[in-house]
Amino acid sequence: MTTIAANLQQVNDRIAQACRAAGRAPAEVRLLAVSKTFGADAVAEAVTAGQRAFGENYIQEGVDKIISLRQSSPHRLEWHCIGPIQSNKTKWVAEYFDWAHTVDRLKIAQRLSDQRPADMPPLNICIQVNVDGGENKAGVSPADALQLALDVAKLPRLCLRGLMSIPEPAPDFAAQKAVHEQARQLFEDIRAALAAAGAPWAQPWDTLSLGMTGDMEAAIHAGSTMVRVGTGIFGGRTYA
Ligand SMILES: *Cc1c(COP(=O)(O)O)cnc(C)c1O
Repeated sequence: MTTIAANLQQVNDRIAQACRAAGRAPAEVRLLAVSKTFGADAVAEAVTAGQRAFGENYIQEGVDKIISLRQSSPHRLEWHCIGPIQSNKTKWVAEYFDWAHTVDRLKIAQRLSDQRPADMPPLNICIQVNVDGGENKAGVSPADALQLALDVAKLPRLCLRGLMSIPEPAPDFAAQKAVHEQARQLFEDIRAALAAAGAPWAQPWDTLSLGMTGDMEAAIHAGSTMVRVGTGIFGGRTYA
């Protein structure tokens, strides 16, 4: 077994164990393998080991891998943009990715909807929320998240799936869980508001994208439905 295959098995075991401990079914939590800075060969190894959903932060790097894997892999893979999206990159995201987790402004959502090709399914969207108020951080404030969700729900070529958050590193399990629970509460509040808004804006709203290698157990206890794991699968990153 390759290192990546063994790591994947370990991460899937961690997810299953955390689900058991939290009284949840393992099928409720999806694993997103974060392949940023690693090459198409590393992604291919993970695919061979059964992984299908991948997250990329740097859009051009992601598109290069998407094209490469399309040519070399027999499997249909699912690609998630989890990095910041500038206006001049929305076209790439709309044309190549299946999901974008980092929408925090209506202008970006509008461009993604306008640029989503007609022959592709709607782009799946998570709204990024800055739950712990880090000053220089991306993400809409919790107070503004509902209005953004209602606005995104009206855009025709997007499918609104839920919330994503990247809290500051917290010192221990309890602190990690407490901050993730703020995102979970907001997720439930927005679900109720979307339901109250009625049928024209009906959206799946089924995804809480929370947790990375260091805090995935706490995120699962708090209700995460999708953990984004890089280091635990591919190893430490070196940035060029
Ligand atoms: C890099 C990254 C991850 C993965 O982090 P690890 O600690 O390596 O698991 C998850 N989410 C986002 C948004 C990232 O940028």
